[in-house]
Amino acid sequence: MSFVKIEEVDQSYDVIVVGSGLGGLTCANRLAKAGHSVLLLEHHFKLGGLATWFKRKGHIFDVSLHGFPYGMVKTCKKYWNKAIKESIVQLKNIVFDNPQFSLTTTFEKNDFINILVNKFGISQNVVEDFFDTVNKMNFYDDQSMTTRELFEKFFPGRTDVHRLLMEPITYANGSTLDEPAITYGIVFSNFMNKGVFTFVGGTDRLIGMMGDELVANGVTIALKAKVDQVLIEDSKVCGVRVGDKEISAKSVVSNSGITNTIDNLAGRENFPSDFLDQFSKVKVNNSSAQVYFGIKKGETIEDVGDLLFTSTSDEFSSEEMLDMESKSRTFSLYYPKTRPQQDPDYTVVASMNASYENWADLDDEQYKQAKEEMIERSYNDLERYLPGIRNKVDWVEAATPRTFNRYTLHTKGTSFGTKFEGLDVSRSIFKVLPGLFHVGSVGIIMSGWLGAINYGVIVANDVDGYIRS
Ligand SMILES: Cc1cc2nc3c(=O)[nH]c(=O)nc-3n(C[C@H](O)[C@H](O)[C@H](O)COP(=O)(O)OP(=O)(O)OC[C@H]3O[C@@H](n4cnc5c(N)ncnc54)[C@H](O)[C@@H]3O)c2cc1C
Repeated sequence: MSFVKIEEVDQSYDVIVVGSGLGGLTCANRLAKAGHSVLLLEHHFKLGGLATWFKRKGHIFDVSLHGFPYGMVKTCKKYWNKAIKESIVQLKNIVFDNPQFSLTTTFEKNDFINILVNKFGISQNVVEDFFDTVNKMNFYDDQSMTTRELFEKFFPGRTDVHRLLMEPITYANGSTLDEPAITYGIVFSNFMNKGVFTFVGGTDRLIGMMGDELVANGVTIALKAKVDQVLIEDSKVCGVRVGDKEISAKSVVSNSGITNTIDNLAGRENFPSDFLDQFSKVKVNNSSAQVYFGIKKGETIEDVGDLLFTSTSDEFSSEEMLDMESKSRTFSLYYPKTRPQQDPDYTVVASMNASYENWADLDDEQYKQAKEEMIERSYNDLERYLPGIRNKVDWVEAATPRTFNRYTLHTKGTSFGTKFEGLDVSRSIFKVLPGLFHVGSVGIIMSGWLGAINYGVIVANDVDGYIRS
């Protein structure tokens, strides 16, 4: 099968996947490989969800390709293909710059241990004990310890060490010090395996390769197809409705956020009250804001690092990082090596954590002004690393939580699904409403490129078991 218009899809499938984020794509691919007929419906005009890119004035801007853990190599080899796996390369130059310290690291375990011992003066035993503890954390552990308690246990009062360990993870997934240490431990040790990696050719190339693989495996794909409702009969899922078109299926996998899935697609009336009690405790994660800078063709910029974690705030605070006027931002620098097949292109993306509430109610004029102010703050910070950058930029544009909400429909434009408690709800949805599965960013652990893809595999196994039973 292939890309078709929604009017052309068949009447019935084994599985309908709603949404083409990395979780939805992976789940659809696995199920098609297992021999099921699969329909993938995506509301946007392209595949990828938050794993996306856009083109302006000859530049290609990557939205969420800032870095992922080494685990992607094995995952892509096993669940996608060799060509995808072979395009994964390390980002070796990770820079931290804030009032407490400035350093460059490969973000590998040995380098981090060396920095903690030699730059921060922590004893080797304590550092090794910390890494050991974090490495051994797993989902079935006691979840009452918070990350703050974990840090205080190993590095009491050392706010500089807490910052080094936490700031990149907060940028990556919005975690705070008050969340279960397990969410920190799993994500941090994933990265500490071998460092931070990226995809050569950019997000557009990766998603293109995934699309080809889906087509080769027989998945039918319809873009610009927003699912309005999951259809339920006799307390079991039986299909979906897109506008006035109904398509039947033995099972539906929703890659729409868990809140969307329960509230808007299936409807709360179809779930038992104890499940809804659990669901009512789920908090969605924060959103993001970004500023994209395109450098004029023919101009170059100096190599000042691949990923710059920068802040002029005295100490780390996840609340400060969420503020509209945050002094903390990550710069991702994309040199021509990112897309070696194309004309040399330099782009820079500034990323900030952001809260939907701060942006939601601004009127048009206020919204425009707030975006301009954010661009200005980002320019000022970027100039500290690339003096004179303003004269080299020929495109600048901002995205806000409203932008993420618009393109992915996610509740409050969440970039990383839900906080920890969302994981249980996502995992148990098919037990309370047979035939309905959820895949995609949830619980922090199952978020990010690696988490979403791995979750896609797990959910595909659940669906396969359900259909076969
Ligand atoms: C600014 C930003 C930077 C990030 N940086 C990184 C990074 O550097 N490294 C990393 O690992 N992760 C990063 N992430 C997170 C990562 O991109 C996401 O966790 C991951 O891509 C989410 O995949 P997903 O499967 O949850 O689906 P999503 O990407 O959330 O996609 C869901 C899809 O479902 C579609 N959909 C929703 N409802 C419907 C409906 N009713 N009908 C049809 N379609 C529907 C949406 O349009 C969307 O395409 C970043 C995220 C953001 C926002």
